[in-house]
Amino acid sequence: MAHVWGGIIREYLDHMPFAEGDPIVTLGEGGTPLVHAPTLSSTVGAEVFIKVEGMNPSGSFKDRGMTSAMTQVVKDGDHTVVCASTGNTSASAAAYAAHAGLTCVVMLPVGKIAAGKMAQAIVHGAKLVQVDGNFDECLDIVRDLSERYPVALVNSVNPYRLQGQKSAAFEIVDQLGDAPDIHMLPVGNAGNISAYWMGFKEYADAGLATRRPRIWGVQAEGAAPFVRGHPIKDPETVATAIRIGNPASWDLAIAARDESGGWIRAVSDAEILAAQALLAGDVGIFVEPASAAPIAGLLAAAAKGDVPRGATITCTVTGNGLKDTATALAGREIEPVVIPVDVEAAAAALGL
Ligand SMILES: *Cc1c(COP(=O)(O)O)cnc(C)c1O
Repeated sequence: MAHVWGGIIREYLDHMPFAEGDPIVTLGEGGTPLVHAPTLSSTVGAEVFIKVEGMNPSGSFKDRGMTSAMTQVVKDGDHTVVCASTGNTSASAAAYAAHAGLTCVVMLPVGKIAAGKMAQAIVHGAKLVQVDGNFDECLDIVRDLSERYPVALVNSVNPYRLQGQKSAAFEIVDQLGDAPDIHMLPVGNAGNISAYWMGFKEYADAGLATRRPRIWGVQAEGAAPFVRGHPIKDPETVATAIRIGNPASWDLAIAARDESGGWIRAVSDAEILAAQALLAGDVGIFVEPASAAPIAGLLAAAAKGDVPRGATITCTVTGNGLKDTATALAGREIEPVVIPVDVEAAAAALGL
């Protein structure tokens, strides 16, 4: 019988802080495609593979961390979860809370959430609180709330989040047959870069990979605390998912960068949007702006001659483009041609 994917906790139970018989909260997350990108590969002179995390149940990698965080919440007997979010954490938390029968409270920076993500939190029945501040300020509030009230925090400062998210590194090794030379991903609150490094290290230590990749992280220029070397007060970028000035997992991200011999660099919003269009037009993958940052970073590195020839490079694209169609379509001229119901007219309109 064909193997039916059981979600990341069941698939990687030996590497998870759970046991057979635990009340696993899952929507079947993980098992996402690793897609070879031939044109991009020849552009940068390497073998480039795209890990398509927008294929997760709520459309972003956050689901990998939410299955583990929510499973622990249920084990602990808590009833209410809370998170701060630039959009995808709330979408994922709301979905998993709905599935597990938990109450979900989300704090969102007012006016900075993509419409699709907002819709997800609403349809899954989360209690939305919009905060007249940025993500970092929302996170301060929910951390305080979870210390003083009976609500469980499911942001990536919750260690169960990273335990689940490290599974993406396992999958990449399983899909390639070994670790890549370089792994690239966007960096916002820095939970994911920390989780990938944990996952690659664990797999190598267990003898399931012969090596560990260098980690190349990419931030948006207007929200690049790691590149500047200090927190940023008013982060700004079109890539709202990484519009974060004071990353919670600072030390872990620095360790991932330095232990792996990698780097964290910044790209402009224009480079991000160009990479988003390239992924959609040349690779066939529609991602949200933040997810295009590593591709923009890869192209910039290649232009500087920093990409080792023939290296195997995996890039995580973190979220689905359908979440934020407004940004993707901004500036594009869309003039649909209307024709009568007629084959000749169709051929004429197509220049055939
Ligand atoms: C959350 C998120 C990020 C940033 O991940 P961090 O773990 O906060 O660094 C990047 N892209 C998307 C689409 C996200 O949802």
